[in-house]
Amino acid sequence: MPVPAALERLITTVDEEETRQLGARLAQRARPGDLLALYGDLGVGKTQLAKGFGRGLGVAATINSPSFVLMAEYLGRLPFFHIDLYRLADAADALAGGVLDERQAAGVALVEWADRLAGALPEERLDVVFEGAGDDPRRISLRAIGGDYARYLEVAG
Ligand code: ADP
Ligand code: MG
Repeated sequence: MPVPAALERLITTVDEEETRQLGARLAQRARPGDLLALYGDLGVGKTQLAKGFGRGLGVAATINSPSFVLMAEYLGRLPFFHIDLYRLADAADALAGGVLDERQAAGVALVEWADRLAGALPEERLDVVFEGAGDDPRRISLRAIGGDYARYLEVAG
């Protein structure tokens, strides 16, 4: 489905710190119940953005990839639920329905490999689509889907 241009912003980052800074700026906009859905290949920078997002929420703990636990919960200004579906390629259909639950309404959820949630992905969300590899700059597209997610686009300046 095409996204209206006004609800999409494209940002380029040249290194991981810039991607973290983008995450931290996005975190300033976060409200309880929000969902950020991240897409892009392995090594594209999703976890770097998650690390910055946690920093922006004031999470003191180091945020790593929660690949083995599916979801890690941190406490900052809001509860932060970091979900990584990388290892769920095959089981995704079975588990997708149980990954997001009402507990997360109290905080903000960020999902890496969100495409693996397929039909279980809520209709209203911020899509964050990454492109780029290696030492190349990353193109990061922010797409506000429904609700008032457009507030996140203001970070693009
Ligand atoms: P993913 O979670 O998408 O699999 P990671 O965030 O774990 O990816 O890893 C991204 C890798 O790419 C890191 O090694 C990081 O140093 C590197 N990198 C290079 N340029 C960038 C950039 N502009 N943004 C984010 N990461 C970058
Ligand atoms: Mg990752």
